Amino acid sequence: MLKQCSRCQVLKPLEDFYRKARNPDGRQRWCSQCAKTVKANYLANPENLEKNRAYARKHREALLSTAEGREKVRQYTRMYYLKRKQEGHKNG
Ligand SMILES: [Zn+2]
Repeated sequence: MLKQCSRCQVLKPLEDFYRKARNPDGRQRWCSQCAKTVKANYLANPENLEKNRAYARKHREALLSTAEGREKVRQYTRMYYLKRKQEGHKNG
């Protein structure tokens, strides 16, 4: 099944679109290539980068304010370190 990207107007297979459960077809309107470009352009702007960081910080604070959220963060952090350990610190 093909879907037209609303940004580059190219018909691409559905797998080329990131998932978005809230959309009727379960995919984003832009193909993954466009999504990457848009994100890179967005983050190239220092103002947006700071906004993004502030959002992540706020999100983390909200998560840490509940016991359930703290447990999630703990598990995620553990997974992250385990993964790094398995990779053997390739980059130093
Ligand atoms: Zn596209």
